[in-house]
Amino acid sequence: VFAGIAQAPEDPILGVTVAFNKDPSPVKVNLGVGAYRTEEGKPLVLNVVRCAEQMLINDPSRYKEYLPITGLAEFNKLSAKLIFGADSPAIQENRVVTVQCLSGTGSLRVGGEFLAKHYHEHTIYIPTPTWGNHPKIFTLAGLTARTYRYYDPATRGLDFNGLVEDLSSAPLGSIVLLHACAHNPTGVDPTVDQWEKIRQLMRSKSLLPFFDSAYQGFASGSLDKDAQPVRMFVADGGELLMAQSYAKNMGLYGERVGALSIVCGSADVAVRVESQLKLVIRPMYSRTPGDWSHIIKQIGMFTFTGLNSEQVAFMRQEYHIYMTSDGRISMAGLNMKNLPHLADAIHAAVTK
Ligand code: PMP
Repeated sequence: VFAGIAQAPEDPILGVTVAFNKDPSPVKVNLGVGAYRTEEGKPLVLNVVRCAEQMLINDPSRYKEYLPITGLAEFNKLSAKLIFGADSPAIQENRVVTVQCLSGTGSLRVGGEFLAKHYHEHTIYIPTPTWGNHPKIFTLAGLTARTYRYYDPATRGLDFNGLVEDLSSAPLGSIVLLHACAHNPTGVDPTVDQWEKIRQLMRSKSLLPFFDSAYQGFASGSLDKDAQPVRMFVADGGELLMAQSYAKNMGLYGERVGALSIVCGSADVAVRVESQLKLVIRPMYSRTPGDWSHIIKQIGMFTFTGLNSEQVAFMRQEYHIYMTSDGRISMAGLNMKNLPHLADAIHAAVTK
């Protein structure tokens, strides 16, 4: 049935490496891929990463259990702290929701899908040029990608007037993708003064900032300084989205470590936003939701499963399993024969 499928074109960036690998020349040089290399051109693993790996290997308490849908809570907390600052008012006011995602790409995609589902404007403005994956990620997420002027080939610098003109004429409420620092592919960033003007313009037109931070630490050498534009937008109390990648600044290209944060208007909104982010993530790459370690931790004759009355009713109707509507089960009713049936029923109830 797939015999008629056409050959897809090579990815423009990864395709450079494919061509490089095929070249037998001893003087070949690969300047395509954005990854640290040693003087010998070999992959480089940062010392701090090697140390962390050793600590993990030597820690016998580590396990491979499922994480919650939103990922590792401690990682999310530290990720938000790294970009917004330890003293960020938004963090202190519990207005920040952070979910672990599959590197920068996954964070952008989850953010894009969330906006397509829950935000009234579906147009996202991306700079020209930008990282080649941006238009594809957002289009597939259900948004419409338009461009704003960014680079001026004549000066090989920022086309600030063009940028201001284009954002000024964007419809109210449009989403704007901003590279937090070390713009890819140009290496041209606005100055702090220009960022301040961009911020004022965007807030005056209710344009929603979607920051992409793939290079925190690369622009100035200081993590805090590179986060300054983002923190200016957080300091004004407004909302924004933030996609973080640790592929480049930690050299963790293949491990797909990243996070999406949404800075909300209030703690109450943040709770609801998080609940909706879970619904975006779950059918994309998640598994049976929730942490079930309480089943082992709880003592006595009963387990308070956390299943709600609707799930309890579903399990009774579909699986003929009977328990009180508050989700309490008597452990004494379980045996090796009926346990798999119960597990199937719980799985069906919580993923329904
Ligand atoms: N955004 C930009 C601007 C990038 O350059 C990159 C890395 N090429 C990413 C996001 C995310 O990459 P990854 O999914 O590998 O974290």
